[in-house]
Parts: sequence; structure tokens; C-alpha cells
Amino acid sequence: MNILLVHAHPEPQSLNGSLKDFSVKRLEKAGHVVQVSDLYAMHWKATLDVDDSTDRRADTRFDPSLDSRRAFESGTQSQDIAREQDKLRWADALILQFPLWWFSMPAILKGWVERVYAYGFAYGVGEHSDSHWGDRYGEGTLAGKRAMLIVTAGGWESHYGPRGINGPIDDILFPIQHGILYYPGFDVLPPFVVYRTSRMDEARFSGICDALGQRLDDLWKTTPIPFRPQNAGAYDIPKLTLRPDIAPDRSGFAAHIA
Ligand SMILES: Cc1cc2nc3c(=O)[nH]c(=O)nc-3n(C[C@H](O)[C@H](O)[C@H](O)COP(=O)(O)OP(=O)(O)OC[C@H]3O[C@@H](n4cnc5c(N)ncnc54)[C@H](O)[C@@H]3O)c2cc1C
Repeated sequence: MNILLVHAHPEPQSLNGSLKDFSVKRLEKAGHVVQVSDLYAMHWKATLDVDDSTDRRADTRFDPSLDSRRAFESGTQSQDIAREQDKLRWADALILQFPLWWFSMPAILKGWVERVYAYGFAYGVGEHSDSHWGDRYGEGTLAGKRAMLIVTAGGWESHYGPRGINGPIDDILFPIQHGILYYPGFDVLPPFVVYRTSRMDEARFSGICDALGQRLDDLWKTTPIPFRPQNAGAYDIPKLTLRPDIAPDRSGFAAHIA
């Protein structure tokens, strides 16, 4: 299988750098082909702006969505964006690996998503009708591929528990797992999270690698998070609210998981 690992940490000798190196070795040893987009090493341009297409006219108003669509459709996207889209088309699975920074992904990785997820590629795909609101949330360009997060966090596991001060980790990662990965079609596997990173020694690191190695070995066996598909009948279209008879006692993020 082909695996794209997008890595967002500025220091190769960091914990994230070590986990990335471990993951690549483990996956290659299992016979997979791995490409790494090491965003800091690539000097990835994080901001979405007028320079993202090669034929931008200076005298017209920049529209982030429409200019993205025009560049995608006309083959005038900047090369770095097109290369990452090719990697996504090539990949059977995507791994996003990053430290939790301010309860989300580092800005450089957010910028990878904003720029690579072009209009016509990751959104604005498919027809809109009374029963089908575009190919998204379970359908889309990246349907049939798997995705997983590898995340490290300074906070303790209990801080991210059901009643933890930071909020449950599933809630914190929901915008990434549901909004960024499930939206363009990925089947999203449960995340691999390392907590309390300041308390690391060789023994703990070794145990973490064992657990991570198992998750990587099981990449094609693990059951994805059962997010509800948008166009399969659970949502009223075009309101896009869950039907009243589905999980009537639930609201918020959890309601969108079957
Ligand atoms: C801007 C910013 C925002 C943050 N926001 C949050 C937040 O919202 N929530 C939160 O919980 N945390 C937050 N943190 C903390 C952050 O999540 C952790 O610092 C980060 O996850 C640690 O990952 P790292 O790769 O940088 O680890 P490192 O600091 O590189 O390493 C952590 C420990 O692992 C050890 N280590 C590294 N490699 C190995 C190895 N091969 N073998 C054995 N030991 C090793 C190191 O010696 C060190 O003790 C934030 C930090 C920053 C800088």
C-alpha cells in the first residue's frame, strides 16, 4: 500500500521526529511504500494567498475560493500545491503527525490543508440536489482511502478525559477528523495520541513505539470512526441537520457518530 505521512515539527530530533522515523521504518518493513511531506524541512508556504496560482492577474480582486477553483481547473496551481495533491491521489492512506499546539494542529499544517485542499479537489465536488448535497462527509475525491492522526500533547490523558478541563480529546480533534479528513471522503481511524510528553524516558518511548507499531500494522484492519454519511438518509437536506428520529437525545459532535 502507498502511505503519505505529513509531518509538522520544526526539530528532527524531537519526539515527533522520532515517532515519524519509527513510523516510516515500521511501514516500510511491512512492505508499504511511504512518502513523507516534512513540512518544515520543505519550507512549506503556510499562507493561502495570491501567489498560489501562476497566472494571477494583479488588477482583479482575489477570491480565495474562486481563484482556487480556477487554478485547479486550468492547471495553473503553484507546483507545490499540485505535487501534494498528486501525493494524496497516489496514497491509499494518509497520516497527519503533529504536536498539539493550542488545541489544534501547528499553523504550517493548517496551511497545508488550506492550500492543498483546493476548490474542485477537496470541496465543491459533486452535484447539489434535494437528496445529495455535494460529494462530502463520506464521499468525495479521497473516498476509499484511510486516514489517521498521530498527535502528541503536553497535557495528561485525564485532562482530555470526558470531564477533563481541556475537553475530551475526541471533541478537540473533531474539526480535524470530521471536518478535514471525513469531509473529502477519508475513512478516519481512531487517533494515536501520546499524552504528557514531558514525562518521557527510554522505557516509555519504547512502550509508545510498540503501541504505535501495532496501530500501523493494523492500518487496514482497524474499524474507522463511524461518522454518519451526509447523503445516506440520516440528514435532512438542505438543512443538513440530523433527522429528529436519529439519536434524539444527542447533540453536538457526538451526535454525528453512529
Ligand atoms: C505553541 C505551543 C502550544 C501548545 N499547546 C498545547 C495544547 O494546546 N495542549 C497540550 O496538551 N499541549 C500543548 N503544547 C505542548 C505540546 O503539545 C508538546 O510540547 C508536544 O506535543 C511535545 O512534542 P515534541 O515532539 O515537541 O516533544 P519533545 O519536546 O521533542 O520531546 C518530549 C520528550 O520526549 C523525549 N524524547 C524525544 N525523542 C525521544 C526518543 N527518541 N526517545 C526517548 N525520549 C525522547 C524528549 O527528551 C522530551 O523529554 C504546546 C506547545 C507549544 C510549543
